[in-house]
This record gives sequence, C-alpha cells and structure tokens, in this order.
Amino acid sequence: MFQHHPSFARHKLVTARHDEASGLSAIIAVHDDSRGPAIGGCRISPYATPDAALNDVLRLSRGMTYKTAIADIPYGGGKAVIIADPRTDKTRALLEAMGDFVESLDGAYITSFDSGSTLDDVRTIGTRTRFSAGTLPEAGDASQSTAEGVFVCMRAAAELALGRPTLEGCRVAVQGVGNVGRRLVRLLADAGAHIQLADANENLARAVAAETGASLCGVDDVHRIDADIFSPNALGAVLNERSIPELKAKVVVGGANNQLATPADDLRLRAAGITYCPDFLANAGGIVNLHYQRSTWSPARLGDHIEGLAGTFREIFETAAKSGAGMGSVANAIAEDRIRAAGGQR
Ligand code: NAD
Repeated sequence: MFQHHPSFARHKLVTARHDEASGLSAIIAVHDDSRGPAIGGCRISPYATPDAALNDVLRLSRGMTYKTAIADIPYGGGKAVIIADPRTDKTRALLEAMGDFVESLDGAYITSFDSGSTLDDVRTIGTRTRFSAGTLPEAGDASQSTAEGVFVCMRAAAELALGRPTLEGCRVAVQGVGNVGRRLVRLLADAGAHIQLADANENLARAVAAETGASLCGVDDVHRIDADIFSPNALGAVLNERSIPELKAKVVVGGANNQLATPADDLRLRAAGITYCPDFLANAGGIVNLHYQRSTWSPARLGDHIEGLAGTFREIFETAAKSGAGMGSVANAIAEDRIRAAGGQR
C-alpha cells in the first residue's frame, strides 16, 4: 500500500509498530541503503492523522539519503516517527518499546534525536538497541557541529557570492536561535558579523542577543530586513513564492530542514540573484558528527570533514554558475551520482 503514497519515492523499507502496553505507535522508513545503513533521527510529534505521520517519515527519510550522500559519509537515509505528544506522552516504557522496534531491524536503521526527542531520550532508546547514535559523552551535542557546518558554508558563500573573504562586518539576519541558531550566532559574533536575530520565543531571543551583542528584530520581518545574508534556523518552507521577492539578502544559508517550499523556489532564488546554500548541505554537520561518534571519535577529523562542506558548496556554486541550474538541483545531482556509484537507483 505504501508504494502508492505520493512521498514513497521508492523506499527500501517502511514498517510500523503499535504496542498496546507502552502506547507506542511508530513508523520507521529506510529510503536508501546503497551507501551504508540508514541513519536519521526519531521525531516525536502528535500527528493529527497516521497519514500525516507517514508523509513526514517518508519525506524526512528521503532527505537523509541526500544529506548522507552530500556529506559523503557511509550511510543511507532513514527516519523514524513516534505519534505522541512529546510534552505529555513520553514515558520510559514508550522509549524502551521504540528501542525494541529499532533493534528488531537488526541494524538496517540507526536512530538518533530529532524534534520532540532529546539526547536523554536517545540514551533510553539505546538501553534496548545497539543501533542508536549521538550520545558519546566526549562528542558533546551534535547541534554544535550542525552550527559549524552552517558557518563554514556561509563563509564560503560570502566569499564567492559577495566577494567578502571573511564574515567580519557582514550583516546576517538569523531566524530561530534554538539548538542550532544560538550556536551559529555565537560563531558569527566571534567572527565579527553584525547580527540581527528573531525567535518566536522572545525570552530566548533576548537572552541570545544579550550574550552575543546581536540586535533583535521581529519574527515577521527577519527574512526581509536589509542584510547581506539570511539564515533560516527554525522552520521549513520559508523560501517560497511570497517570501523570496521580499528578501533583501543576496545569500541564504541556514540550518533549517526543507527550506524550499517547492522545487520551483530553487530557480526562483536564482532568478532573483540570490545564492542559496542547499539546506541538506548547510545542516549536514550534525550527521557528520554522528558518523565519527559511531566510528573513531576524532575532533580533528570531524573538523576537517565539516570544513569540507565548504568545498562541496564551492563545487555546487561553480556548476550552477556555468549551467544556470538552481543550487538545489545541482546538489541533488551530486548526491544522486554518489548514490548511483554505490549501486543505488536514484
Ligand atoms: P529548536 O527547536 O531547538 O530551535 C528552533 C527555534 O526556532 C526555537 O527556538 C523556536 O522558538 C524558533 N521558532 C519557531 N518558529 C519560529 C518563527 N516563526 N520565527 C522565528 N523563530 C521561530 O530546533 P533546532 O535543533 O535548533 O533545529 C532548527 C532547524 O534545523 C530545524 O529545522 C531542524 O530540523 C534543523 N536541523 C537541526 C539539526 C540539529 O543538529 N539540531 C540538524 C539538522 C537540521
């Protein structure tokens, strides 16, 4: 039945489990495993319908295939969703039952944190499965690596698209200062950027601004203020038919997933003269961190790998400039070439 779902996109495996005793209702999707076992976080959300949960897990697992390929780590794409309210339904029994579900796939899917799940939750899941990632104590929070990846891509974009060799003095508008955004703001402040930031959580926005010397702006205005770079780190679909004509920034680099509302927005950005760093490249630092947590932990190798994301950005920028294609479609093509080279059929 899944094959007919509009988001199916030739998934390798889609499986669901309902466990009466713990209240677990979950779906695991493995999109592609030609480059290695599927990896991706476990999202916990009170989806309105099972179909909404299925749609989300299929879309997200496909995204992980492209992210692991563009980041050049030996993994495929997968994702899990638990249909539950993370504020009220997250019990130890539910997380343990999720661990059993992951373990039952015998390594075909490796889980980690995502929205609605914390590192502590992953630790609990990990008491029941060998296939969880992200909790190595010396590795800290993988969101730091995500922020570093956004930062190095932003620096490369400023150099190539704005002719600025560093981010010093660059005006950056940051939307969302949660796990990724606030770490990015710290890096930007250290680099001497002029930061304006907004967050739906006003107290958080004020605290991050006070800590870093950034200024505050309104959540409805952050994408359209006069800035050199816009950095979305909160929501998906922020780059759309309505918002793109309002952007004053000539560069967009941020950590949020699924920033383009539709594939057409990729070309819309290009036509507007805006350099867009494909989101699955900009935010790949976190998954690269998980790769080193699962192989041999090495801060130096992790740092080099994250720096390498900027090299991939350069390659995409140059190919897009020559061909006139959108940055997103060039990045997709690079990822698909790598998947095909490993025997996959994308
Ligand atoms: P988070 O929940 O910690 O932070 C998101 C922040 O955005 C919150 O502070 C929230 O108040 C704010 N926000 C929500 N709506 C907003 C709006 N309309 N305007 C401004 N701010 C708003 O999440 P996070 O872990 O920082 O992740 C941010 C984005 O990056 C998500 O799209 C996530 O999927 C993606 N991402 C995160 C990681 C990671 O390592 N954490 C890795 C890859 C991708």
